[in-house]
Amino acid sequence: MRTSLNRRHILAGIGASSALGSIALPAIAQSKANLVIVGGGFGGATAARYLKRLAPNANVTLIESNSKFISCPFSNLVIASERTLNQQTFSYVNLVKAGITLVHEKATNIDGPSRTVTLTSGKTLTYDRLVLSPGVDFRWDTLEGYDEAAAQVMPHAWKAGPQTQMLRDQLRAMEDGGLVVMSVPPAPFRCPPGPYERASLIGHYLKTQKPKSKLLILDAKDKFSKMPLFQEAWAKHYPDHIEWRGAADDGTVTRVDATTKTLSTDFEDIKADVANVIPPQQAGLIARTSGVADGTGWCPVDAITFESTLRPNIHVIGDASIAAPMPKSAFSANLQAKVCAIQIAVLLAGDAPEATLLNNTCYSFTTPNEAVSIAGVYRNSDGAFASVLGAGGISPLAADDSIRTAEAAQAKDWFAAIIADTLG
Ligand code: FAD
Repeated sequence: MRTSLNRRHILAGIGASSALGSIALPAIAQSKANLVIVGGGFGGATAARYLKRLAPNANVTLIESNSKFISCPFSNLVIASERTLNQQTFSYVNLVKAGITLVHEKATNIDGPSRTVTLTSGKTLTYDRLVLSPGVDFRWDTLEGYDEAAAQVMPHAWKAGPQTQMLRDQLRAMEDGGLVVMSVPPAPFRCPPGPYERASLIGHYLKTQKPKSKLLILDAKDKFSKMPLFQEAWAKHYPDHIEWRGAADDGTVTRVDATTKTLSTDFEDIKADVANVIPPQQAGLIARTSGVADGTGWCPVDAITFESTLRPNIHVIGDASIAAPMPKSAFSANLQAKVCAIQIAVLLAGDAPEATLLNNTCYSFTTPNEAVSIAGVYRNSDGAFASVLGAGGISPLAADDSIRTAEAAQAKDWFAAIIADTLG
């Protein structure tokens, strides 16, 4: 009775019925496997919740170094003073209530052959299956002059927390008439439309609070996510406040000097009053030191189970994984976590994993009350992730304001839903 109730709820919540349809639920329920998850962000926290629901008798341990969950989605609104960091900050308490063992430590080493994870305290945990969702790390020093010390002067604000607040405070402290410069790295990076949503919201802040000021975006690319929609919004709302320069227009930042807040391209040195440098990225350190990342710095995975193709029994989800064309987003990390949890349950039950469909929707605010979105559907049936052509879509250009405000309302509903689904 209880099993079928769980199964119905899980199916409703996950929307990935084909994968779960064939598995032996009683076998999973009895599994006493040790399931360890490293990283309690959108991917890892979701994986922990769903693994505990699918395999209630398993020992599910989540290792997360931070004591609070701070969300990157909606953090661009904090930078524009439209929201507080407090509103981005959530507790892990419901995971503990669900029976998950939460360890607030850093995982420092993973030993594949002995299936152990070592923590900062020296304690080791053994696992039958390990899920890694460590997010991204920055490639310090690949952009000359940009290291951890420089980030205290020219914040990246690409991991939500003190950096978010620092960028917001610098904008607030800037004199009207100041120049804000944002540097955007080459792909792939976390949240492809994120820099342009941030630009829109900084544009709104400048227009309304510091109207003589301007934002210059220096981009290492010539095309970006939802480009026509952002450019339309900038022309409409911020013609005097946002300028974008792509790679072909000398937009690639080649070095920075934190002492003078100067960003240099091939042909120009630009002195900023506020500099937001979003550096090049790679998979979180623990993924790279545990041998699941390849030469690209990201982690190749089996498209159906998210099991590493380099190390058995270790699954990698979220930003750290190579799942293109799925973008590196919270939406993707959350859904990949659920699919991965199902497949681990399938494997625990001794069944064969089956292909699923995945999807992603990314909302971006163009003003605090207007948003645009892009959605995609992906299949994983042929050994790789691929877009389902004709599925998904993007907000229309030249749309009525009511469509943009309706999408902003949907974005807020999505945010509430994904936080609840991730943290319980
Ligand atoms: P994270 O959520 O970063 O989680 C990784 C966790 O692992 C962290 O909590 C970290 O502390 C922990 N960790 C790492 N290493 C260790 C270790 N060794 N031991 C213990 N713990 C460890 N996505 C959307 O879908 N929609 C949006 O609107 C959106 N907006 C964004 C706006 C901004 C400004 C940014 C920067 C990102 C945005 N994103 C958005 C992207 C989204 O935040 C990421 O894609 C998502 O967080 C990825 O989830 P993850 O689990 O891979 O990594």
